[in-house]
Parts: sequence; structure tokens; C-alpha cells
Amino acid sequence: MPHATVAVLAAVLAATTLLPGCASGRTTSRSERRAATQPRGFVIAAGERVAVDVPVVTFLDAGGFDARREHRWFEADEILPDRPAAGCDTPRRFSARRGAAPPRTIDELRERLTQFVLHYDVAVTSRNCFRVLHDVRGLSVHFLLDVDGTVYQTLDLVARARHAGASNDVSIGIEIAHPGAWTSRERADHYYAGDGVRLAIPAALEPPRGGPFAPARGGWFEADVNGSRVFQRDFTAAQYDALARLVASLRREFPALREGPPRDGDGDVLRRALPEAERTTERGILGHLHVSPAKVDPGPAFDWARVAAPPN
Ligand SMILES: [Zn+2]
Repeated sequence: MPHATVAVLAAVLAATTLLPGCASGRTTSRSERRAATQPRGFVIAAGERVAVDVPVVTFLDAGGFDARREHRWFEADEILPDRPAAGCDTPRRFSARRGAAPPRTIDELRERLTQFVLHYDVAVTSRNCFRVLHDVRGLSVHFLLDVDGTVYQTLDLVARARHAGASNDVSIGIEIAHPGAWTSRERADHYYAGDGVRLAIPAALEPPRGGPFAPARGGWFEADVNGSRVFQRDFTAAQYDALARLVASLRREFPALREGPPRDGDGDVLRRALPEAERTTERGILGHLHVSPAKVDPGPAFDWARVAAPPN
């Protein structure tokens, strides 16, 4: 924002707040005040409920997903994932955040939480994403964001989830349900037309309602991300709305999350990984692509301006 605009805004604010009798002609009723301050949901951080401006289905709620479970979610008699990712071949999909001492309180967590890492899941629905992460790969993430905008929290924010390598110790991970970005139009067409989507979701799980998804903006988005040309359709409007509310709420609670995303010399959001030394020290909202040169998510369709505007 230009300084002149800031100065004008400051003057207007001063005038409207300091001048006696300068009310807009209406008073705020008690019920309106309550509505304005009533949280729409809560997330769990160091065992405490933190108010957020979006409904959240937590791991404690009916219908939620609990990544603390040390057995498979959909096949509860199995303990270990059958194809664990490297270092993830234990029943536990999470651990304490590493460092001098693991954070235990929300104040300690405030010092340690410095990044959001955004992913798309290529699992198409959050239910299927949780199956793949928890039951198959031995991985985890704090939030799942479904096609219809439902936010699931699967782990307390104090826990170290397994989703983004070295950034796991300092980040909140968010998996956004989406068919992903593909390296050719043919592969993307095949996947988005439904063949890949049908293959991705086991028959036992609910397919996404109303088709795979309805992109917020039409058409294809393509770009070179970490050296690969990739093609992608947009995320849904409900996802952008829920994510913007979640991000804004958590930025109020955890000030170190207010930066970012990283930008290039032209001011565009960076489409390549940060230098290795900066991948864990960079603060704010990042994509998986920024902390891993092998990744492209959340992909060229992701509309950063809708979720990452600087907080007030
Ligand atoms: Zn990812």
C-alpha cells in the first residue's frame, strides 16, 4: 500500500474514532456484537482450543480423522503401513517437534511455528487423502481441506506431522483435496476426465459429490514449476474461502506465520524452491514447491492472492 494511502486511511480512522458524536447513525445491538465476535470453529493447539473463523472438524469430533491412532484408520487390525515412506516405518505417524526442547504450551508453540506448507493431495477427497497418508504411506498432516470446503484437523498443532521434510519441525501442513498438476495435457485430461479420479478412490470410499470438483475459475493453468511444465485446473471457491479464513485466523494467533509467500524479482510468487539454507528459516505461507525442489504443489492454478494477502 502506498504511504499516501496509509496516511489518508489513518486520518479517516482518526477522525471517525476520535470525533465525538461521529457515529454512523446506528448503534450495534448486543446480538450483533455477539455475532461479530463468535468464532465459527476451533482448532486444537497444545491441548487448547483456539478460535478460528471457519468450522473445523477436529480429531476429537465425530466424523473426524485422528492421525494419533497407531493403527490403520480403515483397516483397524493392521498396524504398519504396507508401503511406508523412508523413516516412517513405525506405527506412529507423528512425533514431537524437534529442536532445543519440544514446545509443550501454546506460548512455546508461538515461538516455533513459522511456516504454513500448502499441498494438493492428488487423492481428490480428504477422506481418500487420509487413507493414503495414514493407512498406506505412514505420513501425516495437520489439516485436510476437502473439495466442499470442509476443514479437518487430524493432529494437535503442537505435534510434528510428516509432510514436508525438514520443514516438518516448524510448519503447519495443509493438504488440499485436488486431482493435482500433470506434466502433459494428455495425462491431465485423462485424470481430470474421471479415469484417474476413479482409479484413485477405492470403491469402498465415497466418490466426491457432484463430480470431481467445480473449479473456481475455468480453463487450464500452466507454468514451469521447479523446472517442470505442469497443467492444472483450479481449486474450488469453497476451498479458497475456507483456507483464507483458516490462514487469517491462525496468523492472528501465531504472528510468525504472517509473512510470505516468497516472491521473485518481479513480485510474482516464486515458482521454484528456495535455496536450501532458507527452506527452514523462511517464514510465512509457503507451498511444498518452495521447500522441496522435487515438488510442484500447490501448482500453477493456486490463487495465492485469495489466501495470502497480508493480514491487517
Ligand atoms: Zn506436497
